[in-house]
Amino acid sequence: MIYLDNAATTKPCSAAVKAACEAMTDNFGNPSSLHRAGLNAQLTVDAARKTIADSIGTESGCIYFTSGATESNNLAIRGASAAYGRKKHRIVASSVEHASVDETLADMEKKGFEVVRVSPREDGRFCAEDFISACTEDTVLVTMMYVNNETGYILPVKEVFSAVKRRFPETVTHCDCVQAYMKLPVKVNQLQADLISLSGHKVHGVKGCGALYIKKGIRVLPIITGGKQEKGIRSGTESVPLIAAFGAAVKELSPTISERYDTVSGLKNSLINKLSSVDGVTVNSPEDGSPYIVNISAEGKRSEIMLHFLESKEIYVSSGSACSKGQQSGVLGEFGITGKRADSAVRISMTAETTEEELEMFCDAVREGMEKVRG
Ligand code: PMP
Repeated sequence: MIYLDNAATTKPCSAAVKAACEAMTDNFGNPSSLHRAGLNAQLTVDAARKTIADSIGTESGCIYFTSGATESNNLAIRGASAAYGRKKHRIVASSVEHASVDETLADMEKKGFEVVRVSPREDGRFCAEDFISACTEDTVLVTMMYVNNETGYILPVKEVFSAVKRRFPETVTHCDCVQAYMKLPVKVNQLQADLISLSGHKVHGVKGCGALYIKKGIRVLPIITGGKQEKGIRSGTESVPLIAAFGAAVKELSPTISERYDTVSGLKNSLINKLSSVDGVTVNSPEDGSPYIVNISAEGKRSEIMLHFLESKEIYVSSGSACSKGQQSGVLGEFGITGKRADSAVRISMTAETTEEELEMFCDAVREGMEKVRG
């Protein structure tokens, strides 16, 4: 199998599997229990929390575990709006957010918030000024992702958030860092984000676990209430195995972010180079995007048809965003990729373990698909 769908999910690393297994065998206690088995489970959760806090340059007390980034995004948007939205009713977002943000914003609109979605300019690039001029005194929250999951486009988060904070210090800033975390440096001070969403399974952890960073002093009201775990911000017995796996994966990846970035940049260049010899293939991702995600269009071949042709060769990619199960999200259109080009978009997402041979085989298969597949 040639797995080129790492933006959808990654293979859990062996350290993550080992940590999860330990928490399901020897260390299966409930962290809330007052006996030793509970304490041991609590220590495991605390250790993972510290690892994740360190990785983004914060303290353990600012990390709250969730069931994944979908929940983190919901908690950030709903929770901050509930805490601060009595007097302020405007939310500013990018127009290319993941469904877990965008659908939540649609719900906020139904609840009476005014949501302003900022689009890229005609050249497909976001301009920080456009976000800032969309903000008013009435803006409760600005939310934008760091790396777009469909194209790899890097949004100007730091520029936008620092300007917003200068002009409207009371406005809360939230960043969905799912596709950036452990790939680009994600540091709370550098981003000027009050809230940051992370996902475990995109960084070689296990599915069903994520985290929300909440800056000290920022209020977020819970969306799940109950036994007051996670300081009451996210009730429910902590999934110790998944949290342990998340921590183990981050511990392993943290020291090699820039090394892996260089490796994957090399892979991206080489992939684009190889694809340039395949007739009818265009690259949709920007040159200066995250190297981990490369979006291409295979002229005249519908995404699903190409995807299944590649699948027949055990090469796994995604059409647009895997989360939307093949449904077009409209995000490509926002980047100026429309019509037939959008219909034939295929997303390749790599890791530092992806090999040149795999990319060679992928390109050969695309070339063959261009000849054999009906469209
Ligand atoms: N945000 C982005 C940018 C994503 O790519 C994803 C996953 N596709 C999510 C949020 C949701 O993450 P999770 O699967 O952990 O709910």
